[in-house]
Amino acid sequence: MFFLGQKQLRVALISEHGDPAIEIGKEEAGGQNVYVRQVGEALARQGWQVDMFTRQSDANQPTIVQHSRQCRTIRLAAGPKAFIPRDELFAHMPEFVQSFQRFQAENEVQYTLAHTHYWMSGWVGMELRKLQSLKLLHTYHSLGAVKYQSIATIPMIAKTRLATEKACLESAERIIATSPQERDHMRSLVSSHGNIDVIPCGTDIRRFGSVCRAQARQQLGIPQDQKVVLYVGRFDRRKGIETAVRAVSQSTLRDQNLKLIVGGGSRPGQSDGIERERIEDIVAELGLQETTTFPGRLGNENLHLYYAAADVCLVPSHYEPFGLVAIEAMASNTPVIASDVGGLQYTVIPEVTGLLAPPKDDLAFAAGLDRILANPSWRDQLGRAGRKRVEEKFSWDGVASQLGDLYTKVMKEQPAKKRSVVSA
Ligand code: UDP
Repeated sequence: MFFLGQKQLRVALISEHGDPAIEIGKEEAGGQNVYVRQVGEALARQGWQVDMFTRQSDANQPTIVQHSRQCRTIRLAAGPKAFIPRDELFAHMPEFVQSFQRFQAENEVQYTLAHTHYWMSGWVGMELRKLQSLKLLHTYHSLGAVKYQSIATIPMIAKTRLATEKACLESAERIIATSPQERDHMRSLVSSHGNIDVIPCGTDIRRFGSVCRAQARQQLGIPQDQKVVLYVGRFDRRKGIETAVRAVSQSTLRDQNLKLIVGGGSRPGQSDGIERERIEDIVAELGLQETTTFPGRLGNENLHLYYAAADVCLVPSHYEPFGLVAIEAMASNTPVIASDVGGLQYTVIPEVTGLLAPPKDDLAFAAGLDRILANPSWRDQLGRAGRKRVEEKFSWDGVASQLGDLYTKVMKEQPAKKRSVVSA
């Protein structure tokens, strides 16, 4: 157990929209939810009392979910108890701050350490620091300065987001970048001030890699001789699913028992449902209906089987600060072909654990597919090297112990000074 003086260490993980207790793979539920939940549970195993705060987005959700003895999700009131798109959430953050304070008063607890996730939670953390003594660590998960470079319509909230991200970098005790590439973007695009440590994301190395390809295929009913290309993730245009489909279409092996599996949930009428329909239209236009399947959201019971069953996993995102899917596939002994961007340049070692290709370049992805699918022994070699890299660098327990060490160090440093931040 970690004790500082006589007090057990307690940390508030604040993730205003990435509910750690929710089903993953649906609209706006992805890597951040997984990260907070896994880090929270791993820190608790290492002796921390972990309270994970998020916004209640459904009246039927319990306000508290106990994950283990020392780890729980606490849902705070902030705006209507309904799904609100991220770009419209900021107006409810002052209420989130009030609810957080009410929770502290009602439960006679005052947090002295918070690790916030995504810019709006960073804002919440900075507001809380005006009201109480609080050490703040922050993870961006996505940087506005990077995101706005790649989208056509800049939302109204952009100015506030960029100002908050800068204030957070310059005033938090620590910023945690999940890859050296993300750190470099912070420095070049956000501010040259502020303290940044690099601690990567992790994955469950016991679950992923627990089954071999042949067994996984048997369980999923996939023929042993089929060539299986897998995508896993949200239906979001920036995930580049279109590139995966076009790459399969361009592959010289497309008519040779090739299967593309596009895993991930979507809701009709919501933005992810619209992207799914767009992808289905491209599949039809390219005549790939027989080749492509959409198994929906992959969960606890089958996600590890799909990764293990695949010959290759595609991560064709336009940008990723980290990209959990790549290390999940690698942990499952499956090589990855990823876009040559962001954290994927850190996790995937080209020609060793997989390949990197320019984003949106379906011909380059197709060429990579051809090389790996045509050579099963190279595929296996890449898969083994990927597994080894994940075991060495990206286990949740390893990530949590690096975070725990940093929390402890920050707690011992001189108290934080109060600073002014952007107002809601
Ligand atoms: N995921 C899942 N089931 C699905 C689709 C995605 O569990 O059907 C998980 C996936 O395994 C990964 C996360 O959602 O852990 C996506 O994280 P990533 O960092 O790759 O992308 P993000 O969603 O954060 O953009």
